[in-house]
Order: sequence, then C-alpha cells, then structure tokens
Amino acid sequence: MRILVVEDEQALADGLKFNFELEGYEVTCVGDGQSAVRLFEEGAAPIDLVVLDLMLPGMSGYEVCTTIRSRDHDVPIIILSARSMSEDRRLAFDCGTDQYLSKPFALPELLSRVRNLLEKTRRRKGLDNSPRGPESFAFGDVTVDFRRYEVTVRGKSHHLTELELQLLRYFIEHEGDVLTRAEIVKNVWGEKPEMTTRSIDNFVLRLRRIIEVNPSTPRHILSVRGAGYRFVATPEEPIANSNEPASTESVGGDSEETGVG
Ligand code: CA
Repeated sequence: MRILVVEDEQALADGLKFNFELEGYEVTCVGDGQSAVRLFEEGAAPIDLVVLDLMLPGMSGYEVCTTIRSRDHDVPIIILSARSMSEDRRLAFDCGTDQYLSKPFALPELLSRVRNLLEKTRRRKGLDNSPRGPESFAFGDVTVDFRRYEVTVRGKSHHLTELELQLLRYFIEHEGDVLTRAEIVKNVWGEKPEMTTRSIDNFVLRLRRIIEVNPSTPRHILSVRGAGYRFVATPEEPIANSNEPASTESVGGDSEETGVG
C-alpha cells in the first residue's frame, strides 16, 4: 500500500516516511499541493492514503483535499495540522477529509489511524490477503492478534510493526523448522532489497524482547548455530537448554517511538 505525504516541513516529512516504511508501506513525499494533485492526475503509482498538511506553499491543504476528492471519492485523507480550531476541522471535513489530527500528534495514534483506514480499504476492495491464515495464534503465555498487529504477553499488549508481524507470522507458519536467514529474507521481505540477513537478527531481538520471559535464553525463537532460527510454540523443557550464546541485546536500532510532530 502506498501513502502520499504532502508536507512542506522536510524534517517532519522524513520522519513520517521513515516510520511508515517501518510499518511496511511505500511512501511518496511531496512538499506542495500542486505536486500532490499532479500525482493524482498522472495516476502513475496508485495512492492508497494521503497524509496532508494544511499550511502549504501555494495551494492550501483545503484546496488540495477538495481537488483530490473530486478525482478520487474513496482514497482516505488524514489532515495533520498545527491549526486546532473547531472551524479548521469543520472546513477540513467539508472538503472531504476522513480524519484530522492536530500537531503535535502522537505517532502511535497516527499509525493506528492509518492502519485502520487502510484495513477498511483492503476489505472494501476484497483484497484481504486471504492466504494469510488465521487471525490469531496463541502459544505459551503469548497471543498474537494478526488483525490488530498486537501481541499480548502475560496480560500486557504490545504493538508490532507490519514487518515484525510478518516475521512472527512466518515463524509461526513454519513452527519447528530450521529457517535460514537467507530464506527468511526471501520469503518475508522478498520485495525489500534493503533488508539484509543482518536485519533479521535485529528483528528477532525485538520479537524476543516482547515475547520471551528471558530474551537472553529464548524458549520460543531459538537460534540454530550456523543455520538460522527455529520457532517452537511449546518448548519441551520447563527451563530452556540455552542453545543461545550470551545475549546480544545491544545490537540494533530500537528507537521505534521516534518522536515526530
Ligand atoms: Ca506546513
């Protein structure tokens, strides 16, 4: 799914792009309304959702919203604006926006809104990626809710990014199998050349921190030395035979809560 970000503040546009890409979306950024409208007119890359600033050089966000709406009745539009008066919101909704978030905004809230809107689009278009299997899966004291991008671990819920969820799903679907890093990259992130086998290790560390009681002696996502990883839903021993060397917890950028806004 592709998100169009219309934002003249470069740092904010970059932050949004970074975070949307982490969630697995394609992102196009433009800094003014004319460029946004042109993209819709050209129709070269289909756009599934628009994140739109109101105060833009040239054409205002309201005009952009009205123009996009006149060409595409369905594409979800989220306005992100420093203006927070109810009059601004009313105008925005009159122009056909779906949602309105005032800056500064909380990133998790924006991501959650984006997810919900795109989920509706998927359902409407009937492309609910059906071969994706069951909607939830439970193992040990962990429950994975694939629709809500959520894992509940010992009563506490955690949000997963699209890429983390895809990896966890792949592990679950291949329960018990030894999976090499190369095959994980190919089958989970095939279309993303920037994903290296090294990225896998970082994703695995993050998943372990979420689901394992003791991430340094994992019982579910096991390392298989010289090969890759193996997911075990029901460990045989109450205490894992650690086939994992000492924790490498320091690896990997873990700053998902990158502040934006
Ligand atoms: Ca602006």
